[in-house]
Amino acid sequence: MNITDMAERIKRGERRALARAITLVESGRADHRVQATELLAALGTDREALRIGLSGTPGVGKSTFIESFGLMLTQQQGLRVAVLAVDPSSARSGGSILGDKTRMDLLSRDPNAFIRPSPSQTHLGGVAQRTREAVALCEAAGFDVVLIETVGVGQSETVVAQMSDLFLLLLAPAGGDELQGVKRGIMEMADVIVINKADGDLKATATRTQADYAGALRLMRKRPQDPDGYPCAMTVSALEQRGLPEVWDSLKELSDWRLQAGFWDATRSRQARYWFDDAVRTALLAQLETPQAKAALAALGDAVAQGAQEPAAAAAAFVRDLQTYGG
Ligand code: GDP
Repeated sequence: MNITDMAERIKRGERRALARAITLVESGRADHRVQATELLAALGTDREALRIGLSGTPGVGKSTFIESFGLMLTQQQGLRVAVLAVDPSSARSGGSILGDKTRMDLLSRDPNAFIRPSPSQTHLGGVAQRTREAVALCEAAGFDVVLIETVGVGQSETVVAQMSDLFLLLLAPAGGDELQGVKRGIMEMADVIVINKADGDLKATATRTQADYAGALRLMRKRPQDPDGYPCAMTVSALEQRGLPEVWDSLKELSDWRLQAGFWDATRSRQARYWFDDAVRTALLAQLETPQAKAALAALGDAVAQGAQEPAAAAAAFVRDLQTYGG
């Protein structure tokens, strides 16, 4: 595979090249990893999209929202939209809560949209790095907005927030006492809380839920990265396509403000450092998995068990020689 050629095609926005590149970054093969790293370096970071993380529990309407919101962005705002997913369930079990791209039928056929289901990997850490790299590929391909979807189960929100400029939490209409059901940490991550299903019989409940969350947000400590009025809570109907331009206006207002105030760049720098640290840790852990490293660990472990070596001294010797074990 010619990496320079692939990079050129991606920059021209060729979808097939983008899809192949994402497959490349998702691959666990060592030679693919080398090529993926080369490709990302060749693409650089001069194109930026608005990266929007989106989370919500199963059934809250994430796919319906992404379909309606995505179509609003492509058709009314003239934007190009990519959709990626981080699915913690597929990381653990091979199964998927988020399903595949057939969920967003109309959007997946839109020439200005690109939808990619979650990579299946054995652990969330790997999925997160791969998805972050896929985000970078979509940016290089000239998408204006990258939506990164995840399921509201905890850890995956944190990693999605680490690759997003803005974080959107999707909730269903519910009685006031259920407000506590949303984990505080996840609420604190949200820039915009969107109460979906504000239609039909659910409309009044949705409006009440929105007021409850707006109140809860006002009680939270003000974050430096927010102008007045943010984080905010709004209602939409993804099904009836209501309230979606308003959500977009809020996201734009917030991102424009952060850009002006310097928080945009500061956040991206902090995130780059996070992913660097993460990659270093991952690479070091991978070194423990080579056959030579495993053999050395076993041999030194035996020596320690038999009292022939001190644990600390054996560990220091192991770490010193780790580089020579190869990979
Ligand atoms: P996901 O699991 O979060 O991706 O949720 P889905 O998008 O699959 O939606 C779950 C169910 O909620 C489906 O039956 C949708 O038709 C329904 N739904 C989604 N959005 C709305 C909405 O705005 N209003 C109403 N009434 N139902 C909705």
